[in-house]
Amino acid sequence: MGPPGSGKGTQAQHFVETRGWSHLSTGELFRTNLSQGTALGTLARSFMDKGSYVPDEVTIGMVRERLTQIPRATRIIFDGFPRTVPQTAALTSLLAESGRRLEAVVLMEVPREQLLSRLGARVTCAACQTVYSLAVRPPKVPGVCDRCGGVVAGTTRSDESPEIILRRLEVYEEQTAPVASHYDSLGLVRRVDGSGTMSDVTARLAAAFA
Ligand code: AMP
Repeated sequence: MGPPGSGKGTQAQHFVETRGWSHLSTGELFRTNLSQGTALGTLARSFMDKGSYVPDEVTIGMVRERLTQIPRATRIIFDGFPRTVPQTAALTSLLAESGRRLEAVVLMEVPREQLLSRLGARVTCAACQTVYSLAVRPPKVPGVCDRCGGVVAGTTRSDESPEIILRRLEVYEEQTAPVASHYDSLGLVRRVDGSGTMSDVTARLAAAFA
């Protein structure tokens, strides 16, 4: 677990590649559906583009399906799931149904300024290419270039425009922080400092997984 920009996906990928674990990233599954133009992808996009969560029943159905494709003996890193209280209850049932057990919940913590600068690193003006950083140098009017009045937005993911990034952080606090509290009350949470370089964080995670 961790807020957008905490490095969940990158780090999960590292452990999947080096340890042979399976990666179950709901964000990635939605993006794959989107690029393949499936009905699920089109539906997901309408929520992702606003920085909102995809409805629980859709997300849970997709995870249920994906779980059937992973051999029972393989360890899974869930990345970005569960993100809401109902998804947390669903995960408990899904794991029980498939004879699996939740070993730990790793919570990656990164100061807000660092999240904003990581997420905002690629924000540029579409017209004159002026680069902005939300943390260090945001445009005076959100989404509008100071220099030429052009549209300032992320260049890769459509959910990485400045307003949407702030919305995603807000949604995380509202809907996902309670999930961490729930797992905390069960004593399952391992907190990891997610700030600094990728290799620093990988080393801390390796210790948390030990
Ligand atoms: P991520 O790549 O994990 O940051 O996810 C990108 C976007 O996909 C999120 O901002 C949500 O719109 C959607 N998404 C990913 N995982 C979930 C989930 N577990 N529940 C609802 N929406 C999700």
